[in-house]
Amino acid sequence: MELIKVIHDELPQIQCGRCDTPGCYQYAEAIAEGEVHNRCVPGGDKTLKNLNNLLNKNIEEIDLDYGPSVKNQTAIINEEECIGCKKCITACPVDAICGSVNLMHNIIEDLCTGCELCIEPCPVDCIELVKSENDQSRKNSQYYFNLTEELRNQETKKRKMDKSFIYNQNIGDEINARIDNRNIDTDENIKILQFKILENQLDQYHSLSKKDRTDFIKNNK
Ligand code: SF4
Ligand code: SF4
Ligand code: SF4
Repeated sequence: MELIKVIHDELPQIQCGRCDTPGCYQYAEAIAEGEVHNRCVPGGDKTLKNLNNLLNKNIEEIDLDYGPSVKNQTAIINEEECIGCKKCITACPVDAICGSVNLMHNIIEDLCTGCELCIEPCPVDCIELVKSENDQSRKNSQYYFNLTEELRNQETKKRKMDKSFIYNQNIGDEINARIDNRNIDTDENIKILQFKILENQLDQYHSLSKKDRTDFIKNNK
């Protein structure tokens, strides 16, 4: 079995980013490439022990510099206080929060891993963590984490495209504005053009024999 997958299976799937990578899969990748395997504080001693055995490398202790642990918990929103700012949605790694701008938001317990990432961004402090034995979210969290990343990348691409569209539109407007401001006097230009045609005809006339000049005058009347 691929090493990354076996390492990943040992991680607690909270997707909290405490290990200094965006989520559990990225930490598994980093470990497989030689990164130290004691940064998952939520996984605690149990995860460390399993990784020690799996990798045949012994690290004594979890590195507590990577933040506090995460309990078995889920987040809930105090509906009366929520102002619908969407900041929690942006912070959630598994898209467990639903709601629209200016409307009350809600958390889907089966998706919420209790990672705590939505707590700090909430400007009105209306998200609370409560004890939960529901481990459903951890079983599916990698799937929802990947899906959330994919959707956000698409949004980023779309925003970039919108931005470049506006940029090009501005350049177009600027060029058009310059053309409008060229200050061309159309009447004057037509006179110049007519004068040049006459000059040209006169040159041709002078280059012809006397006989042909009569025909030329007839044809250019
Ligand atoms: S649970 Fe958090 S700290 Fe542990 S591997 Fe996953 S993202 Fe990293
Ligand atoms: S709702 Fe909050 S605690 Fe739950 S997964 Fe999303 S960010 Fe983490
Ligand atoms: S961050 Fe807080 S106030 Fe804003 S939508 Fe989320 S729960 Fe509501």
